Amino acid sequence: MRDPQADIGRRAWVACPRCADHAGCAPCHDGRSCETHWRFLLAAEARRIFVQCPGCWYRWWHDTEFGAGDRPADVDQVPAFPDHGGAAA
Ligand SMILES: [Zn+2]
Ligand SMILES: [Zn+2]
Repeated sequence: MRDPQADIGRRAWVACPRCADHAGCAPCHDGRSCETHWRFLLAAEARRIFVQCPGCWYRWWHDTEFGAGDRPADVDQVPAFPDHGGAAA
């Protein structure tokens, strides 16, 4: 069933894990905005988006792995400064 939040004006280009209808599609393979294989964008939360496939009506959270607030996992690590221990004096 189509989600009431589904809006043709809000679309996302991610592969549907259920019907995998993008398989063998050239535009999808190239990462372009395919005219056939898009999903309804229902919601977005940080780097995750809630999408619905118009082909099988499956809904799922998709991790975009980028986006607002996203940081690489190791970016917060404190650099290891060499310990001089006062030996320079
Ligand atoms: Zn699907
Ligand atoms: Zn496609």
